[in-house]
Amino acid sequence: MNHADLADHFNKDEPRVDWHDKTLWYIREKRDKAAWQTPDWELLRSTASQIKNNVLSNLHPYLLQFEKKAQQNGVTVHWASTPEEHNQIVYSIIQKHGVANIVKSKSMLTEECHLNAYLSNRGIDVVDTDLGERIVQLAGEPPSHIVLPCIHWRKEEIGELFHKHLGTPKGNADPQFLTAAAREHLRQRFMTSKVAITGVNFGVAETGEIVVCTNEGNADLGVQLADVHIACMGIEKIIPQRKHLGVFLRLLARSATGQPITTYSSHFRKPRDGQDMHIVLVDNGRSERLASDDFRNALKCIRCGACFNTCPVYRRSGGHSYHTAVAGPIGSILAPGLDMKQHADLPFASTLCGSCTNVCPVKIDIHDQLFKWRQVIVQKGYTSTSKKVGMKLMTFVLSNPSVYKIAGATARWFRKYFPVVVNNRFNLWYKQREMPLAPKGSFSDWYKQNRKA
Ligand code: SF4
Repeated sequence: MNHADLADHFNKDEPRVDWHDKTLWYIREKRDKAAWQTPDWELLRSTASQIKNNVLSNLHPYLLQFEKKAQQNGVTVHWASTPEEHNQIVYSIIQKHGVANIVKSKSMLTEECHLNAYLSNRGIDVVDTDLGERIVQLAGEPPSHIVLPCIHWRKEEIGELFHKHLGTPKGNADPQFLTAAAREHLRQRFMTSKVAITGVNFGVAETGEIVVCTNEGNADLGVQLADVHIACMGIEKIIPQRKHLGVFLRLLARSATGQPITTYSSHFRKPRDGQDMHIVLVDNGRSERLASDDFRNALKCIRCGACFNTCPVYRRSGGHSYHTAVAGPIGSILAPGLDMKQHADLPFASTLCGSCTNVCPVKIDIHDQLFKWRQVIVQKGYTSTSKKVGMKLMTFVLSNPSVYKIAGATARWFRKYFPVVVNNRFNLWYKQREMPLAPKGSFSDWYKQNRKA
């Protein structure tokens, strides 16, 4: 199913759509307040964008510097060009340590690589320790938002889910109670897991350290209690120096949730005594993106989710309608680069209003890229046959004035005497809207009659 079909499915539950829309807009408003209260917000955005320009222009030397420093710190660095390679590396580390239960804190990269499924097919039990991630994991779903993975779930539904899986009393949907129940359930797991996997928000080339931002402290707890720490990192997460964190950490939390700072910004530089630490650097199409003038800016993304919260299409179609690990406007420009045929629908899931570009803390030209992807997708022939035929017909009509005139008159006649030709269930536009009444004549007729006056 494509985005439109999946969005149609989400839209069947109208109260959920309204509430999803309002909740995300509330977060967008919190982001706005936090931005207005920050002096030189626009300067911060430009600085972040320029630092990322520098990173993208020098990615190769920065990655080598990062690898060298990390190795000097006692960390084992691995390189993976595909999701399969990434999963194999992670699995081989787990196997080496003979572990069957692991904890994982939120990592969109591991979602992108489908790591959980890969490991569970090999008998490894992975528990996601971020509360939102754990909720969708118990529900057997992927996250629907990169920062708020279960934003599409109501608290009553979470109460039911916890009753079924964690044995909480039926009908108890008190968020504080449910959080305490999840904490108790996860604590046991933290205490017994020998391997902890984390994502990476920033990798500092200067020092070889990684920075992981969470609001729950789950990454810290997992890593501190485990004998092995595996950090999975996309190669674009590099920043040159530690001082640059001052720019990105201020932008990330404010753009994501309107907080002045993420509750835990944890730096991991070297393994503690007796611990084994690994960093897996993943490409998965990023080098190809880097080589493309039109789409390389997408690699600046710091995964704050602000473009999701502001997007009118995302807010009213839900994250699962994007059928990809990273949904929303940024997902719609990343996914076609990985598989253009499978994700050809996503760049069209936008109004091109530009709100995503306006809020992006690293100034990615998101709506321009959406528009460019549409052109590439049409040129490569990945649009549906009906759209191709429709566009050919439209080109013929619009490039022939006499045909255009006849077509206009015919359409007006049908709209007047046989409106069912347009107002029918096959017209997707009509499903959500009232069609306008046909005018009496064309603009050209009106102009001829009124020109002298
Ligand atoms: S594209 Fe920009 S706004 Fe969207 S998630 Fe990435 S950094 Fe945030």
